[in-house]
Amino acid sequence: MKLIEHFVDGKKFSGESKKTGKVFNPATGEQTANVNLASKNDVNQAVASAKKAFDNWSNKPPLHRARIMFKFKHLIEKNADELTKLIVSEHGKVYDDAKGSLTRGLEVVEYACGIPQVLKGDFTENVGTNVDSWSMRQPLGVCAGITPFNFPAMVPMWMFPMAIACGNTFVLKPSEKDPSCSLKLAELLIEAGLPKGVLNVINGGKEAVDALIDNKDVVAMSFVGSTPVAKYIYENCAKNEKRVQALGGAKNHCVVMPDCDLDQAVNGLMGAAYGSAGERCMAQSVAVAVGEIGDKLVEKLATKVESLKVGPGMDKNSEMGPLVTKEHLEKVKGYVDIGEKEGAKLVVDGRGFKMQGYEKGYYIGGCLFDNVKKEMRIYKEEIFGPVLSVIRAKNFEEALNLVNDHEFGNGVSIFTRDGDVGRTFSSKAKIGMVGINIPIPVPMAFHSFGGWKRSLFGDHHMHGPEGVRFYTKLKTITSRWPSGVRSDPEFIMPTMK
Ligand code: NAD
Repeated sequence: MKLIEHFVDGKKFSGESKKTGKVFNPATGEQTANVNLASKNDVNQAVASAKKAFDNWSNKPPLHRARIMFKFKHLIEKNADELTKLIVSEHGKVYDDAKGSLTRGLEVVEYACGIPQVLKGDFTENVGTNVDSWSMRQPLGVCAGITPFNFPAMVPMWMFPMAIACGNTFVLKPSEKDPSCSLKLAELLIEAGLPKGVLNVINGGKEAVDALIDNKDVVAMSFVGSTPVAKYIYENCAKNEKRVQALGGAKNHCVVMPDCDLDQAVNGLMGAAYGSAGERCMAQSVAVAVGEIGDKLVEKLATKVESLKVGPGMDKNSEMGPLVTKEHLEKVKGYVDIGEKEGAKLVVDGRGFKMQGYEKGYYIGGCLFDNVKKEMRIYKEEIFGPVLSVIRAKNFEEALNLVNDHEFGNGVSIFTRDGDVGRTFSSKAKIGMVGINIPIPVPMAFHSFGGWKRSLFGDHHMHGPEGVRFYTKLKTITSRWPSGVRSDPEFIMPTMK
């Protein structure tokens, strides 16, 4: 059986821990590898390697770091097929979707190629007579990143290209469910010319995460995953005086207004609810049908959900792949059971779906609920599977209240032809990312990604300008050179003269 190791100091690293986890191919249900699960000591070695590399790396001119990013970009493009297949084989999503997610990660690398421009500070001549002032952004030191299973390439790439381009060194702890992509990316960065120790990848679970939290040399932590773990990371990193951004779970609503182009809304919802089998933090899991549109919406959705092409991710005909693990499949089916018991109307039931020839794969068909109420668990909790709940609202205000009262605040969309409604919605929604006639409003790499409320603990969103702010600290220098101006000591607060 293949063994997946760590990547420390520019090479594979076994570590001392004898603990391993299992990696599966969700399409077949077969175990494809064991993965080493790091001990505290293993993690500390990775951090020590990153710490040793910091002085040299942080002193490199930004242009030098940018050129390595350019080479990295080319290597990702050259190896895109292999990287995509790694995503499909360990996560399960369909090939084109996996390729798209790789592209969204690549775009962050492209943004990082412009780091010399982005890191330029501000300068003011003569803040006082013959006194100049300028600001600069300097790297923090060793940063760490902990990532979820659902985007094994994209989410790590929200973090480490930005951190490294800013002059930090990095320890990445990807999901132990699909670790191979991160390791391949680390190898490509070394090939691109990154000095050893600047990026280390450590595999593991809670023990490895706790070791990163406890290690005083880790000065900043980026986390993406579920809300309970995000909160744990936020609280404990803050307690240990680290800078922290912790992105959590979601329950994204799609408000369907009576005046919208219904086919556009239905197609948007289909991709956003069932793409990647609903395993996206920006998946739409709630459709809010406003006014009279509910029956028509459910009817159109039902027809499409019933004819969804579910199958292995490598099959070109598949629109939706399997879920990531057997446990996750059971959890999602469990939620459908709960929804039925709670009294929601199960319009399409995908629980019985079997994939011929792949009977051990983790497949479920698309599920659709109607008449969902706000007290139900299927409405309140994140299911993270291909289950869409339709909830009815009398009018726009009621729909907006639903969105704003929900504990999560990652993404939201509205489908309407009314500019006034669209504008009011984007202004009033208490949500981090809003789409108007756009089903999955994931910001591009040169903007920043992040939710509100219990979808993000911390102050900074990821990548783009916010990523630069997170991975650097601001220093402002005020200087005067002897210029014949002499003054006596002053004991009052300096003000402009
Ligand atoms: P998860 O929280 O179970 O795991 C995320 C990471 O934390 C993994 O690396 C895992 O090893 C580690 N971890 C798990 N349990 C831990 C614990 N008790 N203590 C310390 N570390 C622990 O999340 P997941 O199942 O891998 O991913 C799905 C979740 O991620 C969903 O809730 C989804 O909404 C969320 N997500 C959010 C975003 C976002 O941008 N907000 C993006 C992608 C995924």
